[in-house]
Amino acid sequence: MSIKTANLGFPRIGSHRELKFALESYWAGKSDATALLDTAKKLRAENWKLQQQKGIAVIPSNDFSLYDHVLDLAVMVGAIPAAYGWKGGPVDLDTYFAMARGSTGQSHDGSTGGSHHGDCGHAHNGYGVPALEMTKWFDTNYHYMVPELRRDQPFTLTANTPLEAFLEAKALGIHTRPVILGPVTFLKLAKSTEEGFDTVELLDRLLPVYARIFAELSAAGADWVQVDEPCLVLDLSDRERAALSQTYRALGEVVPDLKIMLAGYFGDMGDNLPAALELPVAGLHVDLVRGPPQIEILLEKAPDSLVLSLGVIDGRNIWRADLNAILNRIAPLVSSLGEHRLQIAPSCSLLHVPIDLELEAGLDGELKTWLAFATQKLDELSVLGSGASDRSGVIGALEASLRAVVARASSSRVHDARVAARVAGIDGRMKHRGRAFLARKALQDDRLRLPLFPTTTIGSFPQTSEVRKSRAAYAKGAISEADYEAFLRRETEAAIRWQEEIGLDVLVHGEFERNDMVQYFGEQLSGFAFTQHAWVQSYGSRYVRPPIIFGDVSRPKPMTVEWWRYAQSLTEKPVKGMLTGPVTILNWSFVRDDLSRADVSRQIALAIRDEVADLEEAGAAMIQIDEAALREGLPLRKADWKTYLDWAVESFHLCATGVADETQIHTHMCYSEFNQIIDAIAAMDADVISIETSRSKMELLEAFRSYKYPNEIGPGVYDIHSPRVPEVDEMTELMQLARGRLSDGQLWVNPDCGLKTRKWEEVRPALVNMVAAARALRTMG
Ligand code: GLN
Ligand code: ZN
Repeated sequence: MSIKTANLGFPRIGSHRELKFALESYWAGKSDATALLDTAKKLRAENWKLQQQKGIAVIPSNDFSLYDHVLDLAVMVGAIPAAYGWKGGPVDLDTYFAMARGSTGQSHDGSTGGSHHGDCGHAHNGYGVPALEMTKWFDTNYHYMVPELRRDQPFTLTANTPLEAFLEAKALGIHTRPVILGPVTFLKLAKSTEEGFDTVELLDRLLPVYARIFAELSAAGADWVQVDEPCLVLDLSDRERAALSQTYRALGEVVPDLKIMLAGYFGDMGDNLPAALELPVAGLHVDLVRGPPQIEILLEKAPDSLVLSLGVIDGRNIWRADLNAILNRIAPLVSSLGEHRLQIAPSCSLLHVPIDLELEAGLDGELKTWLAFATQKLDELSVLGSGASDRSGVIGALEASLRAVVARASSSRVHDARVAARVAGIDGRMKHRGRAFLARKALQDDRLRLPLFPTTTIGSFPQTSEVRKSRAAYAKGAISEADYEAFLRRETEAAIRWQEEIGLDVLVHGEFERNDMVQYFGEQLSGFAFTQHAWVQSYGSRYVRPPIIFGDVSRPKPMTVEWWRYAQSLTEKPVKGMLTGPVTILNWSFVRDDLSRADVSRQIALAIRDEVADLEEAGAAMIQIDEAALREGLPLRKADWKTYLDWAVESFHLCATGVADETQIHTHMCYSEFNQIIDAIAAMDADVISIETSRSKMELLEAFRSYKYPNEIGPGVYDIHSPRVPEVDEMTELMQLARGRLSDGQLWVNPDCGLKTRKWEEVRPALVNMVAAARALRTMG
């Protein structure tokens, strides 16, 4: 006997990024739809066979997507905004990709997906029909396309893709459990195109489409379907809860033969769990990695007939599991519910982890023994499946797991007593600047003597193909370090000269030496490791390779000082020191699971603190610490926000409070709902914050106005996601709106974000216009 193992989803991208290359080739017109669809089909078959080979009992189908599974569902149910010109019937690939990427067919950001989130994860197209909006999938770094629904939105089945997937696997002799995103989560994640209605109200119209999908699945021989309702781990309204119960009552009645495995994940269901346990479904999946206490409730309240899928293998991180500990934890469930009522599963779909550790030839051998990617997690599931009923058959695997746990816990690669001591020694003085803001401002104004509405940029200038080629050549050893550095110096010098020429007030060095705003720092800090092939999907064909923070973090030597010093040596104007903040580094990495995120963040912050001190010592009058991802790290539940924001703000303080009051600390944040976090932003007490606001027509400043936020702000005056060059007037108008909300002495003029994804042909005229706009403002009342 053993307990059934079940997987909730496997990465779609292919272990060698086959899907990305097939998509990009199709988009570029270099291959046709048949070639793309063939690649997709091959990947699905490979994934199914791999899972079969690994002994997974319940294998998912329809977990694949060419671009995004939320978009797939929108298309499947005919929720296609009129602008895309769909006339009913099957939806063709062009319409699908127009919704994903805009109808001009150009890629979101022109990048080849080599690196990170520097584009802030938004898709915007300057012309044609724009793509649907994109936003983060819960608290992952995966982004989904936001469905747009009208009040009178009709739904119709355009294609039964779960059925197609089920039949495709069946033809290979593999009986699968199709996956579909649940209707309540789908509606909740969608946005309404009209004011004053809640998209969840559309449920009555959507349910018949699900009923038809389910009926067809059942007729084709499917016995189970996995319905994902990750909204179960969110704060739900009464209407949303009622919608869940309506949905599962209705579907159970209409298609009684198809058993539903209702899957909630990405956290503890908390107050939603008792209600979830009462839903008339055949199975419930719970995330026991993020919510271990749920076991108690399951023991107490799970109805007799309910099958429980135990999400015990971490689908969100890359650490090898402590299999013995997991077996001990679930033992009470096994003995009280019985093996037939349980399934062993990952906490969520494996979409969020890289595919195969075996490909990482370059990774340190010992570190490798502590890791498990998607393929290795399948092995772990199998061991748990048999071990849960009888450990004797898997003794070797359990011993190996234990050895890895013990080695990691005591390894000197992981633990650095000096780092721990420094964190323990954090004291109150490190949590605030010397004087209050207004007193610092007086000192800084005196030192810097900037004009009203000072102009600056966020840090990066175009990462041209020349820059990327040169970096690649250096990495391959094709050019020497000296040649590479000389090249970067020339780029930096040109950028400085050019910024002076167009009259910017505060300059940046341009970040040409940085491959990525996180990786660049991670590579210079102890405690970080980098992979070669460990890609995970960020959105569409854009994948990232997050750094792995495996050990205590420290800074062996200065990281950015020489570049800053060189840039500053070229000009009398102030050049900002440019750093990435600890919370952003943390949120865009795979983080060790043996220390709290707060403490990992503190460690990184102390390393950045040293860098800040060195920049100041070298003469920097302004130092920017980017916290692009601070807002996106917010926990899913409001009740957890305060704890997170407290340590996030503390981390910023640890970076920033070592300097004299005359030194101006800047920060930058990408698009954020600032009203949710305005207290935290104020508590950060950065002297200057630059934010992304242009597309909100400065409405995001409302949060700062009503808070009476006293410090300085650079509201972005143009959208860097679009190649369009903004006119002078547009920018002065936006700044006039900003002046309506904040005082002149608070305001800076800058773009929305860094300019690395743009071309110089776009950046040059845009910044020339921006400087003109600032000059015009200085003469306007
Ligand atoms: N300094 C970084 C840059 O300009 C900030 C980017 C970001 O916050 N996304 O690219
Ligand atoms: Zn930004």
